[in-house]
Amino acid sequence: MRPFTYTRADGVEAAVDQVASHPKAKFIAGGTNLLDLMKIDVMRPQHLVDITHIALKTIEENQEGGLRLGALVTNADTAYHPEIEQRYPLLSHAILAGATGQLRNMATDGGNLLQRTRCYYFYDTDTPCNKREPGSGCSAINGYNRDLAILGTSEHCIATHPSDMAVALAALEAKVNVTGKGGDRMIPLADFHRLPGDTPHIDTNLKEDEIITSIDLPAKGFADHYTYIKLRDRASYAFALVSVAAALELNGETIKEARIALGGVAHKPWRVPEAEAMLRGQQATRENFRKVAEAYVAGATGYGDNDFKIELAKRAIVRALEQAYKMEGAA
Ligand SMILES: Cc1cc2nc3c(=O)[nH]c(=O)nc-3n(C[C@H](O)[C@H](O)[C@H](O)COP(=O)(O)OP(=O)(O)OC[C@H]3O[C@@H](n4cnc5c(N)ncnc54)[C@H](O)[C@@H]3O)c2cc1C
Ligand code: SF4
Repeated sequence: MRPFTYTRADGVEAAVDQVASHPKAKFIAGGTNLLDLMKIDVMRPQHLVDITHIALKTIEENQEGGLRLGALVTNADTAYHPEIEQRYPLLSHAILAGATGQLRNMATDGGNLLQRTRCYYFYDTDTPCNKREPGSGCSAINGYNRDLAILGTSEHCIATHPSDMAVALAALEAKVNVTGKGGDRMIPLADFHRLPGDTPHIDTNLKEDEIITSIDLPAKGFADHYTYIKLRDRASYAFALVSVAAALELNGETIKEARIALGGVAHKPWRVPEAEAMLRGQQATRENFRKVAEAYVAGATGYGDNDFKIELAKRAIVRALEQAYKMEGAA
């Protein structure tokens, strides 16, 4: 690990000032991703600003009738919070599908959204990787790419975003509140993560000096009809090959609204609102679910080892929608 300096901030403004005034500075929260990357020399911050003492650790009602998650609430405290379990069980299930109990006790909600890709080449400093070293090339496109993306890829990068939490937040249409030297702003979750394009080293639309302060959940939590399916190689301690967050609002047997977000398939949680709209006013039949699944992955490209993900994603969408529909209380 390379030498770095360290300060601790006790407020948001101080944290932003400290990051802005040091070259190559990073915030550190739970440290479960950043420290690992520093140890293997993939990330090389020269200064760390510890934000774990800032009072962003509560879950409260927000002005929209939903909940505001402080950025420093741990993944465990979020998943087991009674209001989250009752009103946003989709989010609770998605978080609990990720990592392990020990990690979730340290990992924070803000840090979870900013964790880096799990592409093997990104972690291997002996190989070219445009995300780690811009312009060096992508080892995955013609290499081992079984875990990697099938949607929204570019010739420069086919990495996936590994967060489970972000997939549920995308389906719930959450918003991310941030503060920086330029003031406060809100970024819809849908616009938070970026596609790789020709700048795969930039994962999100957050500026260097901006800190995530909270995540807002809208009032609608889809608590009656939801599911999170995570398909992976092992039952625990593995990232998604494909995951699906599905949420339905029903009017009798008719679908009033459907939300579907995919994980493990793109550089960001993947949503196709036009495909979701195909279910509006329709019956919850396997045939209708299959049509939506086809539309969801239209345009998907396999890179050899990961070709299987295209069919896997379709089947996972159908299964997720069926599970969401058939929950207790379903018409
Ligand atoms: C073995 C292992 C298995 C895992 N499995 C899964 C899994 O299955 N699913 C899953 O979703 N995740 C998984 N994770 C990832 C884990 O959830 C993340 O590492 C964790 O959520 C990151 O949160 P953190 O607080 O530790 O972030 P840190 O490591 O402290 O920070 C991560 C990044 O976010 C930045 N940052 C942190 N907080 C803020 C903030 N408030 N504002 C601005 N920048 C900030 C940091 O500068 C850093 O760049 C796994 C991790 C490990 C080590
Ligand atoms: S897919 Fe992206 S992260 Fe993986 S090697 Fe290629 S450029 Fe690097």
